[in-house]
Amino acid sequence: MTAAAQQIGDPDPPPDTANSAIRLFEVENEFADDTLVPQRRIGEIATASALTCPECHAVLYKIKDDRAPRFRCQLGHAFSAKTLLQDLAAAREDALVGGARGT
Ligand SMILES: [Zn+2]
Repeated sequence: MTAAAQQIGDPDPPPDTANSAIRLFEVENEFADDTLVPQRRIGEIATASALTCPECHAVLYKIKDDRAPRFRCQLGHAFSAKTLLQDLAAAREDALVGGARGT
């Protein structure tokens, strides 16, 4: 790699990284396709977390991507770490307000 390429970063990732990214996007597209993604396919790109989806209460999976933490449920709801925290806080507040009202 040339000094200039080192300074700006190599635009072409190594082959293993490129193949991993392609597989990650293929499986994530299945999530976005409104179909129930089989557990085996989810395990290829994500690990189960201890969190539940604020939308449907299914298990949330943490996507194995070092660039930014992302979560998806098996039904396809997707969250960044920031939006997940916001939605979980809103869901908790709704539950507390509903509990206080007796609804
Ligand atoms: Zn969900």
